[in-house]
Amino acid sequence: MSFDSLGLSQPLLRAIADAGYTSPTPIQAQAIPLVLQGGDLMAGAQTGTGKTAGFTLPMLQRLSTGAPVRDARGRLAVRALVLTPTRELAAQVEDNVRTYGKYLPLSSMVMFGGVGMKPQIDRLRKGVDILVATPGRLLDHVAQGTLDLSQIQILVLDEADRMLDMGFIHDIKKVLALLPKNKQSLLFSATFSDDIKALADRLLNQPGLIEV
Ligand code: AMP
Repeated sequence: MSFDSLGLSQPLLRAIADAGYTSPTPIQAQAIPLVLQGGDLMAGAQTGTGKTAGFTLPMLQRLSTGAPVRDARGRLAVRALVLTPTRELAAQVEDNVRTYGKYLPLSSMVMFGGVGMKPQIDRLRKGVDILVATPGRLLDHVAQGTLDLSQIQILVLDEADRMLDMGFIHDIKKVLALLPKNKQSLLFSATFSDDIKALADRLLNQPGLIEV
């Protein structure tokens, strides 16, 4: 199987070719068409399965075919939010967003705690389409009024089981309460505990189910 049959646009196919990938992994083959259609997704996938490209590629395509959104001050509003449990994963995911999105006019930012707020505030002011963040620092920005999540169209919870294991459930619930009800939500988790199922029930609307 090749990437050509999944419905991805030329700028993404070029970036995939540049990365040296010749065929999609099983999770990519299943997730990409489903996410391109706008559906919610619950995916069981470990690291190393290619899950990051599985959500990043169709997310980039959907954002690139939709119009940019501006806030009341005329600033580019965040349209896609990826939440991750750790800084390392956040940085890695944002790096993937840049790699696969290099031929598209979309901007991204990574945000995590343990570093200064000021550079993050300056970056947010310039406008961001895709924000990859850890939950705590994200909420710090919301509390300070430096981040508006009201225009989110796509939400990804990456390694959701690890986020719950690390005690982020309250932060995640707070974030979810700040997002528009009408959005596309994708939940990735290596395991499916009752807590994950409860989170999925609350968040996902008739999700496609993928397990690899
Ligand atoms: P992930 O599971 O998202 O952390 O990805 C694991 C590794 O697989 C990363 O180093 C990717 O660059 C690589 N990868 C992702 N998709 C493909 C693909 N279709 N073909 C070859 N390598 C890939």
